[in-house]
Amino acid sequence: MERDLQKVLIAEEEIRIKVRELGEIITRDYQGQELLVVGILKGSVVFMGDLIREIKLPLQIDFMEVSSYGGKTTESSGAVRILKDLERNVEGQNILIVEDIIDTGLTLSYLLDILRARKPGSIKVCTFLNKPSRRKVNLQADYNGYDIPDEFVVGYGLDYGEHYRNLPYVAVLKPEMYT
Ligand code: 5GP
Repeated sequence: MERDLQKVLIAEEEIRIKVRELGEIITRDYQGQELLVVGILKGSVVFMGDLIREIKLPLQIDFMEVSSYGGKTTESSGAVRILKDLERNVEGQNILIVEDIIDTGLTLSYLLDILRARKPGSIKVCTFLNKPSRRKVNLQADYNGYDIPDEFVVGYGLDYGEHYRNLPYVAVLKPEMYT
């Protein structure tokens, strides 16, 4: 384990099993349908890469990138700026949003408003991690990998200052790294 990390929260092998399970459930739920899987950059890319290979359905992928107003240390305000939008019209399509983590839920709630206005056929959310204790809006993912405590985690796509995204496991960063 890297020296900036306090502990491994979710091991690589555990993640593999969980992602396979999520893929099986999604495959079952959307049987006979096509999916547009929308990854929210950048945190979701590792999870999304693994997840789509466990979904045995015809699907397309696209990405959105948003940034919250306010700096790194400020709490997300919920107002997000779209840095990268979807490439195509999504009217009538089955959208599955893929997120790395839902924290306050403000970012996702804003994104859902934006996407619902585009009249997709359906819209659901699959998040790898969830911090229920931090929620500020009433929002629950349709598919959820793990509920985790209120600790700052990195790895498996999640960063601290753009680092650690490539760790194959999820770890808690030593608090002295960001205090
Ligand atoms: P929300 O609007 O739900 O508060 O913000 C969610 C975003 O905050 C995530 O997409 C992620 O970028 C960031 N975030 C929240 N908690 C963590 C965490 O523990 N680790 C990392 N690396 N990012 C987090």
